[in-house]
Amino acid sequence: MSYREICDLIKETAKKLKLKPSVLERIVAPERVIEVNFPVKLDSGQTQVFRGWRVQHSSVRGPYKGGLRYHPEVNLEEVKVLAALMTLKCAVINIPFGGGKGAVQIDPRRFSARVIKRLTEGFARSTADFIGEKKDIMAPDVNTTAKIMGWFRKEYEKTTGYTAPGIITGKALREGGIRVRDEATGLGGAAVTGEVAKILKKKPSDISVAIQGFGNVGRHLAHHLYHAGFRLVALADQGGGTLHEDGLDFHASYREKKNGAGLSTICFCRVHGHSSDCLVVGAKNILETKVDVLIPAAISDQITTENAPRVQAKIIVEMANRPIDEAAEKILVRRGILIVPDILANAGGVLGSFLEWRENVYGEKMTYREAKKYLSKRMIAAYRQVAGIAKEKKISLRKAAYLIALKRLAHPLKSRKN
Ligand code: NAD
Repeated sequence: MSYREICDLIKETAKKLKLKPSVLERIVAPERVIEVNFPVKLDSGQTQVFRGWRVQHSSVRGPYKGGLRYHPEVNLEEVKVLAALMTLKCAVINIPFGGGKGAVQIDPRRFSARVIKRLTEGFARSTADFIGEKKDIMAPDVNTTAKIMGWFRKEYEKTTGYTAPGIITGKALREGGIRVRDEATGLGGAAVTGEVAKILKKKPSDISVAIQGFGNVGRHLAHHLYHAGFRLVALADQGGGTLHEDGLDFHASYREKKNGAGLSTICFCRVHGHSSDCLVVGAKNILETKVDVLIPAAISDQITTENAPRVQAKIIVEMANRPIDEAAEKILVRRGILIVPDILANAGGVLGSFLEWRENVYGEKMTYREAKKYLSKRMIAAYRQVAGIAKEKKISLRKAAYLIALKRLAHPLKSRKN
């Protein structure tokens, strides 16, 4: 997805809301784009200059919020798109955050942990003036971990001279993280899936689900759906996956995966136990499985015009960011497939981050049970609100989610109350 595409969607929605051009401009253009080029000492003793960005898209509703990723092919365009999606996501779920995103152009696999630490410290020093607990809050993202974010925070605190656990969410528990954060995206996605699946008018055990991606999001999502009684018929990650019509046993599959087996070699059926009649599915062709609900939870641009005509699901829940491209979406909509958009479906993660930040900055604590209940309740409420608008205005769930987000961005104070 390009930044132009996201702007087009925003502009199209703004027309419906009759937003003033000045208000629209404020939402469309990123407020600040910070580009830094900073030196890092390599293990060889030589110095290399790395390029990074922090895009602060919108602070209309609160401090900028968004992850920091390390990737060799990341570019400013991509960071701008991801920052804008964060703005919309925080508005849809109605938390007092704006949107941002950061990235450094590096292939972390080519460098030692010592270099990654120095790089993180360099990025922290270069951006410290723009970061703050009530200014801009980071989080781990692609190729960055809680440990890396811990290095960022320590360097930030050294540079600025004050303790600021709230500049990072997704922290380790001993550094001020909260238990629910790790599973928050998957938990929120499961709550939304449970709600949207009601339109199928079947009990969960008769609803078949396929999930692409078995990382942080896909794994927790599979766990929660399994416990809600859904029939997980197919699971796949980058190395391919496994399929059984009668449903897979989540716990046995996860245990095997954790012990180092590839998902495509694992076959634990919920009904028959360890059986041999699973089918192997490819990382990509899992998307064409005949299921009620398909959940892309891996990476972007997985459903394109090439495979959209072969998708057989009735509902798609977008847990990855933008897994369906614009042209493919048109095909799917024409074929009557319902799509729950990313800015709603995967907002559980940032909602969990909000709880962590609130505890760090304001001392408002919740138990793990309370946090889980709160998160599911808010995700279901957000889904119902979006589905209500979609029905009333006869528009897609994506357009309805954009409509709600833009309305809140245009009237930030009013939206705090609903
Ligand atoms: P992760 O790195 O933990 O897991 C990614 C999973 O996708 C892995 O199982 C990997 O094997 C699989 N994968 C990678 N490339 C693939 C391919 N080509 N085909 C099939 N599978 C592939 O990442 P994650 O945190 O689980 O995030 C997954 C997606 O959800 C990303 O798009 C991310 O931006 C989005 N997201 C994550 C969060 C969060 O809280 N972690 C929040 C919102 C959105």
